Amino acid sequence: MTFYGHERLSRKSFGKTGKVMIVPSRRSENIRYAVRDIVLLADELVRQGKEILYLNIGDPLKYDFETPPHMIEATLEAMRRGANGYAPSTGVDEALEAIRIEANRKGIEQIREIYVTNGASEAIELALTALVNEGENVLMPYPIYPLYTALASKLGAEVNAYYLDEENGWQPDPADLEARVNDRTRAIVLINPNNPTGSLCSRETLMEIVRLAREKGLLILCDEIYDKIILDDDEHVSIASLADDVPFVTFNGISKSYLACGWRIGWGIVSGPEELVGPYRQAIMKYARARLCANSPMQYCIKPALQGPQDHLQEMNAKIRARRDLAVGKLNEIPGITCVSPKGAFYAHPRLHIDEPDETFVPKMIRETGVLVVHGDGFGQKEGQRHFRIVLLPTEEQLGQACDKIAAFMESPG
Ligand code: PLP
Repeated sequence: MTFYGHERLSRKSFGKTGKVMIVPSRRSENIRYAVRDIVLLADELVRQGKEILYLNIGDPLKYDFETPPHMIEATLEAMRRGANGYAPSTGVDEALEAIRIEANRKGIEQIREIYVTNGASEAIELALTALVNEGENVLMPYPIYPLYTALASKLGAEVNAYYLDEENGWQPDPADLEARVNDRTRAIVLINPNNPTGSLCSRETLMEIVRLAREKGLLILCDEIYDKIILDDDEHVSIASLADDVPFVTFNGISKSYLACGWRIGWGIVSGPEELVGPYRQAIMKYARARLCANSPMQYCIKPALQGPQDHLQEMNAKIRARRDLAVGKLNEIPGITCVSPKGAFYAHPRLHIDEPDETFVPKMIRETGVLVVHGDGFGQKEGQRHFRIVLLPTEEQLGQACDKIAAFMESPG
């Protein structure tokens, strides 16, 4: 891995004046978040006067997408009427009810707990914190959204990586998953649609994963933050809708589908037999109470988001579809690059057929082209493979230019 700005310090370090330095914890040494770490390189290039095209971060609001106005109105209205104090730790009633109705609509029954959080990120953190002990492991898909590996590192849990199959549209391979379960495995993480590959799990694959969880007594943690960003005619199936005898936590939020990632509103839904999830959901609630509550006025946008006009989704998905088609088409024309076309979310994860590791190759490409993508190593990949993640949110013109610059670089990588 390439480290930008990370330094290893010994436990007893002294500043230039000989005074004792505040040394960060050992566990923080392993925290990496390539999507943002790479920005340090971009900042350096900006200081040198280079123009950067930021294709590293999945924030639609940085491009030509806008938060639906009725959500903004609902939030302002909540603030005006004084909903500015702490909310209940699990969330305000109106939001919990709207999330429950939406989950039922997606076929999730046996809901035991819903908790509103500061982004889906916090819901994931609470769910993992309440679950794993040091030395236990969680099955996580590689490539993966790096929050999960950062949290495992923080909690002293092991990442038990299973590899998404690039030859099969980046689907999880249930046989590979099964082979990796051991007596310290606690859960299976699934990201559907996936970041960074944009893959969407088929119903058959999901059924296989449910079967495995049932047989091995595992919890399924499913991140569905991109569930409404489906680019073709495929169906999105919530895995928690496929069984009533298996425990699940399903994560979602308003960041992506409802174009409000800065509001930091997400949620977790614990479902399954109470006999299996009772103590676990109570442990999640202890952590939820300890951090008081999620942003409170923003919670009043959840009902209008889930139950109000959904027109923006069609518009957004049409734009992303056109951008995907253009970028993936162009990337596949570049010698040395192949790219599986994503079915959901707004990322593509092209493969680099090169010998040099992407952690050194991609920074060189960024320096030369100014196109800020994230090296595949930052998301995990099979030994010896090379990839990079590209965000499909900029206009077709910008994406076209970015691909042309990448093509020129690939021709003579310097
Ligand atoms: N889960 C996945 C798979 C993501 O890609 C992201 C953000 O990029 C998140 C969760 C974070 O969501 P939130 O903004 O709700 O914390």
